[in-house]
Amino acid sequence: MPECRLCKQERDLCKSHIFPEYMYSHCYDDNHSFIEFNAEEGKYNKRRRKGIYENLLCKKCEETIQRYEGYGKLILYDDAKPKIEASKQPYTNESYDYRLFKLFVLSLLWRSSISTQDSFKLVSLGKYEEELRMVLLDGLALPVNNYPIYLYQTHISGEPSDGVFMEIYPSKSKFDGKTIYQFVADGMFFFVGIGVNTLRTFKNGSWVNQKRLQIGYDELTTLSSLVDVFVRLHHQGKFSVYETQT
Ligand SMILES: [Zn+2]
Repeated sequence: MPECRLCKQERDLCKSHIFPEYMYSHCYDDNHSFIEFNAEEGKYNKRRRKGIYENLLCKKCEETIQRYEGYGKLILYDDAKPKIEASKQPYTNESYDYRLFKLFVLSLLWRSSISTQDSFKLVSLGKYEEELRMVLLDGLALPVNNYPIYLYQTHISGEPSDGVFMEIYPSKSKFDGKTIYQFVADGMFFFVGIGVNTLRTFKNGSWVNQKRLQIGYDELTTLSSLVDVFVRLHHQGKFSVYETQT
């Protein structure tokens, strides 16, 4: 019998989605496919089947992941996206569940790493894959500077870029050379630092922290590289709010 990738028990496995099905709800294509943008130079965008899944998790672990997904939907789809679209402004939530929301984002990253699908081939977390497995299995609350997260709702000339996906890929922070993964899923740009980040801007500066969740709002094309974003944010003094908290 196969082994569940989360609990490591021998169990019948479910067809597990890598990203939740609701993230594909904005893809209205008749062929049930969507365009996946590829940020690598010399590579073309690809047409993909909607909803990428493979046999990864047992029923119990699938339910664990679905709890994280359910909370992600509650925050992003039932609250943040509509509010951002109406106001054209960044989003702040000071009464959210930090632990659950972070588990949701990290579950996307971890599933991308264990997936063998072509769309996720650039994701390889190495030793952090096992660390994240334990975090997700036990539902742990991580310190804010451990796997810090930045999150943007993107738009294209003022229109929400819902339905846009961009292949998940790693880059290095210009500040300390740490690995960062970035991806676009249904128009939302995710940046996740890997492991403990000591750089000053990440020390208290994750937009997913115990006090509040912040989601930026920016033009998709200007967010093409995380490193550029960091430099830009730094120049704009947008980290100062956090830096004064120490
Ligand atoms: Zn399991």
